[in-house]
Amino acid sequence: MLKIKLPNSDYINYCQRKEYQKNLKYRFCSFVLPMDVEDGTVLFNNFTKEMILLSSVEFSQASNYSSDCLELLNYLSENFFIVPNEFDEIKFLEQVRNVIKLIDSHNKYVNRFTILPTTGCNARCYYCFEAGAKIYSMDEKTAVDVADYIIKKSQGNAVKLNWFGGEPLCNIKAIDIISQKLMDANIKYASNMVSNSYLFDEKIVDKAVNLWHLKRISITLDGLEETYNRVKSFVNNDTNAFKKVLNNIEMLAKQKILVNIRMNMTRENSEELFQLTEFLNEKFSGYDNITPYPAVIYEDLGYSPVKNTDDERKILHDDFIRLVGTIKKPGKGYKNYMGLIKTYSCQADDPHAVMILPNGGLGFCEHFVDCDTFSTIYEDKDKPFWSESIKAKEKCKKCPCYPTCLCLSKCPPHGGELCYEYEYFMRNSTLKNIVKTYYEEYKLNKNSKAGSLDEI
Ligand code: SF4
Ligand code: SF4
Ligand code: SF4
Repeated sequence: MLKIKLPNSDYINYCQRKEYQKNLKYRFCSFVLPMDVEDGTVLFNNFTKEMILLSSVEFSQASNYSSDCLELLNYLSENFFIVPNEFDEIKFLEQVRNVIKLIDSHNKYVNRFTILPTTGCNARCYYCFEAGAKIYSMDEKTAVDVADYIIKKSQGNAVKLNWFGGEPLCNIKAIDIISQKLMDANIKYASNMVSNSYLFDEKIVDKAVNLWHLKRISITLDGLEETYNRVKSFVNNDTNAFKKVLNNIEMLAKQKILVNIRMNMTRENSEELFQLTEFLNEKFSGYDNITPYPAVIYEDLGYSPVKNTDDERKILHDDFIRLVGTIKKPGKGYKNYMGLIKTYSCQADDPHAVMILPNGGLGFCEHFVDCDTFSTIYEDKDKPFWSESIKAKEKCKKCPCYPTCLCLSKCPPHGGELCYEYEYFMRNSTLKNIVKTYYEEYKLNKNSKAGSLDEI
């Protein structure tokens, strides 16, 4: 057996190791993803985040609970790869989460801020989930106050900013003011952005790196040139928007920013996305920090007008699966999934995260900019409890994604009783890609640094 990645500190600190007991019947924990590779089988535990490699002989022995490999079985039991048949891992995970939340409740800092410099946008996508929302922008005084609020609430912790909108680049002034104030106050900060990226140029990219500390950006493409230009329908567009945005993607990637290209999938454009994927695979083949991925446009989100019938969802699901198979490389951004035990669903229930509206209002979720604010940066009330996690569905009980698939009942895209087939596939294929990428990087590292392995 080779240990490729050790368990996270949450598992080490909060979970009791259980020895293998010969008198009990065991099975693999449902959070474990097995993946065949050329050297054997990689086992990744999506709860503990531990990854090991078993040779084919070891895997076969372990799968048969052979008495020839008691030491290995003991390791697998102590590290939550196998559990007694009757064990309820979902209940156990919830108990661990509750312990972590209880301990965490003493930490009063907020250090993750989703900021909307504006709800306005220079594009006019027909499917925009904010199309009916009030349009307003952050003024300079509010931007200064937002920076003061961040400095106060972060209590010396490193700060993560997520610039969202509308289109955040429609109010660069606010981003500049907030970033500059954090820099002047010696706050450690980094940022992500969701942007159509049309407004970038060389100077702004330079500022994104040096002032905004931009590390990752998510950019949507709806199809090839003609479709993209038609769907985005930029205001005051005096150039070929598709070409401009592709140039900007390359400029950002050259600065080592991770660029996730979200290919929005609808019934109308799903075939064209195959051509787009081929085009992107070739155009950006030299960049391992550009990651295209398909995403079916959310229904029931904000003001989204999108609605699909069950049959249409089935077609989208099949297209989605075929499309994922054509994407050449999953990209390094996927490594961000390898962390501690996921305790909160998203910014909406995370007590260390808030969403800041252009007027300084504090809210839970960036996708509902018109509702559910709980305070303002001036009143600064504690964030109240917003929503329960949804209960595990029957198929969750056998799904290795469960520890990272935490959804809130109030969240329309994820909160229903259903797990749409394409969502199930997307989450599972994302997890597989993570494991594959991590393992391949481990092997590269192993070859260049002989002797660095933790072998038992
Ligand atoms: S780019 Fe985003 S915010 Fe702008 S119109 Fe399109 S979906 Fe809406
Ligand atoms: S992907 Fe679907 S089945 Fe799997 S854990 Fe998430 S909701 Fe459950
Ligand atoms: S509540 Fe749902 S839509 Fe809102 S941030 Fe969380 S996952 Fe996203």
